[in-house]
Amino acid sequence: MFKKIVMLIILISASYAYERDFSFHKMQGDPDAPTLLVIGGVHGDEPGGYFAPVLMLKHYEIKKGSVYVVPNLNFDSLVEFRRGKYGDMNRKFADIKENDPDYRHVQRIKEIITLPEVAFVSNLHDGRGFYRHKWESAIFNPSAWGQSYIIDQQKIEDVEFGNLDEITAKMEAILNKDLHENHHTFNVKNTETKEVDEAMQKSLTYFAVTNLKPAIAVETSKNITELDLKVIYQLRSFEALMQVMGIEYSTNLELTREAVQASLADYGSLKLNDKFTIELSDSKFSTRFVPMKKGDNKIDFSHPLGTLVSRGDHYDIHIGHLRVGALYPQYFDFNCEIKGAKLIIDGVEKYVQFGDIVDVKKDFKVLAQDGIRVNVIGFVTKDKTSQDGITIKKSDIIERFAMDNKNKTFRIEFYDENNFCGMIGVKFQ
Ligand SMILES: [Zn+2]
Repeated sequence: MFKKIVMLIILISASYAYERDFSFHKMQGDPDAPTLLVIGGVHGDEPGGYFAPVLMLKHYEIKKGSVYVVPNLNFDSLVEFRRGKYGDMNRKFADIKENDPDYRHVQRIKEIITLPEVAFVSNLHDGRGFYRHKWESAIFNPSAWGQSYIIDQQKIEDVEFGNLDEITAKMEAILNKDLHENHHTFNVKNTETKEVDEAMQKSLTYFAVTNLKPAIAVETSKNITELDLKVIYQLRSFEALMQVMGIEYSTNLELTREAVQASLADYGSLKLNDKFTIELSDSKFSTRFVPMKKGDNKIDFSHPLGTLVSRGDHYDIHIGHLRVGALYPQYFDFNCEIKGAKLIIDGVEKYVQFGDIVDVKKDFKVLAQDGIRVNVIGFVTKDKTSQDGITIKKSDIIERFAMDNKNKTFRIEFYDENNFCGMIGVKFQ
């Protein structure tokens, strides 16, 4: 009996420990050009390395060739802003025990790296100091890693894009033409992994190289503290690498600090069970009485680094390591057939699906449905249990019940007896 209990505990704790999988995205253009694989977040405390891929996915369109992106390889670690929650993942590519919590992720990324179409691998980091070929100071020296392109060896013979030294020299020349500060210079660092660097023989790039996949690490510097600057250097390195490989792209992001800061501050939205939406960039820090199921909930972030962290009575809402909000659930059954409702918005009838947020200029009215109770959160009626059939304007709703800091967005919730059906957000202009 005791043995059985122990087994069960191990299974439960294991499923918690391994809960966050990385995501894998493909951006594909005309197949008549090579495929680049970009990997972010092997180290969880290197935000330049995991926010840059998010902006690649959001702002770039690949016209010729393909770019595969894993933004969050070591997701559990980056949520906690730790290099490696279960030890250094980037030292587990030579061998790894099956009971290692990183095992599943390391095996899966190895499969992706060795996909036949992958022609080049770029692994993104934020390293210490500023790499220099000769010792200048404690921050600028040959054992630093920041602002460098790391190669394990000069070249891989007889492999397309195997000339790692030439490719990174071209990238270095492109990047150094335009630096925010003079000391942000990029340099190529050859770790001569096979001959001299035993630790690096266990790394992701060396695994790739030994499987005849050309690979580099792109390091921005931990000593550059502004995230947007690190991301700009990562994105410019990404553009330089695509240029060298003959991958054609377009982008709607200008690489200015203002534009990159604005994009980084956009946390997107969180959708629960396809029925309840929070727009994260503007939302109040805490969202209370959020209808959720006792069991499994479907959780969709539009941001690739979005995740919930369970804190007992509530969840913290994370974008990577950033805690951007808190969500306090209220548990309901969800046995309800309807998927949306008809509203009169500024005099025009419209069917709105649950989970959608609609713009309202002046007022709205929810049309009645049989057996469905409507509750406009923050709108008080004395003698009516369902708040359908009433024209409501912004000043009719108590402001502090707004979902957002600008007090513009309010919740309409729909119930079938004790079952939650869904919510519609109304956003006043
Ligand atoms: Zn790193």
